[in-house]
Amino acid sequence: MKPITLANLIDGELRAPVGAAYLDVYEPATGKVYARCPHSNARDVEAAMQAAQRAAPAWAALPNAERARHLHRLADAIDARLDELAGEESRDNGKPVKLARSVDIPRAVANLRFFAEAITQWSSEAHIDARAINVTLRQPIGVIGCISPWNLPLYLFTWKIAPALAAGNTVVAKPSEITPFTAFRLAELAVECGFPRGVLNIVHGTGPGAGQAIVEHPHIKAVSFTGSTRTGAMIAAEAAKSFKKVSLEMGGKNPAIVFADADLADANLDTIVRSGFSNQGEICLCGSRLLVERSIYAEFKRRYISRVQALRVGDPNDDASDLGALVSQPHFEKVMACIQRAREEGGTLACGGAAVAVAGRCADGWFIAPTVIEGLPQDCASNREEIFGPVVTLIPFESEAEAITIANGTDYGLAASLWTRDLARAERVAARIDFGIVWINCWMLRDLRTPFGGMKHSGVGREGGTDALRFFTEPKNICINRS
Ligand code: NAD
Repeated sequence: MKPITLANLIDGELRAPVGAAYLDVYEPATGKVYARCPHSNARDVEAAMQAAQRAAPAWAALPNAERARHLHRLADAIDARLDELAGEESRDNGKPVKLARSVDIPRAVANLRFFAEAITQWSSEAHIDARAINVTLRQPIGVIGCISPWNLPLYLFTWKIAPALAAGNTVVAKPSEITPFTAFRLAELAVECGFPRGVLNIVHGTGPGAGQAIVEHPHIKAVSFTGSTRTGAMIAAEAAKSFKKVSLEMGGKNPAIVFADADLADANLDTIVRSGFSNQGEICLCGSRLLVERSIYAEFKRRYISRVQALRVGDPNDDASDLGALVSQPHFEKVMACIQRAREEGGTLACGGAAVAVAGRCADGWFIAPTVIEGLPQDCASNREEIFGPVVTLIPFESEAEAITIANGTDYGLAASLWTRDLARAERVAARIDFGIVWINCWMLRDLRTPFGGMKHSGVGREGGTDALRFFTEPKNICINRS
């Protein structure tokens, strides 16, 4: 079958890249190329930036409610194609269609609607005393660069674009070259629903190509990035040269801590399993280190492993599949190498550990069995470094203090979950662990108003709610003398 050719969105038009170069896009479940996306270069980014710059004054001048209306129309267009887009997201990323249908695409709609509503409630601050009235305006920054990863493609792409646009900026955005399809569909929908020209520009391409050109561009004033810590460090260094504002959402090595007094009813155990293996473990928030209090370790492990073994790995199109394919061959190989490394570090496999052969159309896909490893030293690479696949390490602990030490024993600090009936303990531990998000007796329960992001090597800044609107605006304080 002839691959589908994707295009950039520049100045309200779908355009081929100026260099006419393309990258292969694979369907992870089959291992076959099914599309090609623009391999854009600095000239494409320049054209997008110029379109964004031209569109900026009129977009910024629109009443908030008018910008909100445009975002709602885009949300409506996505919502109306939920099933279609869920199938496309799954084909591009390897995740089960049922997950894309229930999480990814509805969340993209929610992101657009949330920030459309939020901007209508956004107001300037005033600080008044006898001497002066200080009014702090929050003005759009100008042209923003948005760079997103492959694991939750449309979900994270819209998570950046929506607040940037709502706040009155124009955007040059680059989705991951590994999963560009739904960003291309978003471009088509933007054209279809009459999104104003040049306000949203989508340039496809690689990190070192189009991505770097965005970060280096002197007229792109801020960059919102989600991806690996390695890339985030490069972006921070590059952006510092021109004093760009940056928001960095990066990797994680998240602990799920199960205390002996936890309510381990089936539903909670299912959430703990999901927290490790949802989206094949390819969610930055996945709990990949499962810390379990020693007194319940054996019984917990028995129940946990039997549930993990019951997860079905298979064709993402099949609603019976709990896990689909890993996103790419290099990523599949990386995760398999991590499993091998864990063995060399002294770990033993409690389950999984191997590739899964899926018969039929998926025979050449990149599937890995959900894998649980125990017996590893706490400070080995497997317990400190992000694997970003269906791999969880089981770690026993003796006391609350030890659990805190183990949880903090990594350079990352994105998210943690605590499982206990003792709320005093939950509060104590939550206060002492270095993670930007702490869930107590739940996981991935998201309220878009809350600050989202990580500490340490997991992030710089916060997105979500008013934190996002603050990032995407420049405060200007005007002091009026009252005397
Ligand atoms: P990545 O860093 O390889 O790529 C992310 C994006 O950055 C892609 O669009 C890529 O093309 C671009 N990029 C790469 N090099 C660049 C450069 N030099 N200049 C500009 N752009 C560049 O990450 P990935 O492999 O796509 O995603 C997986 C990673 O993302 C994991 O580490 C995961 O934890 C992280 N992640 C974090 C969050 C969060 O909210 N903290 C959410 C999802 C994923």
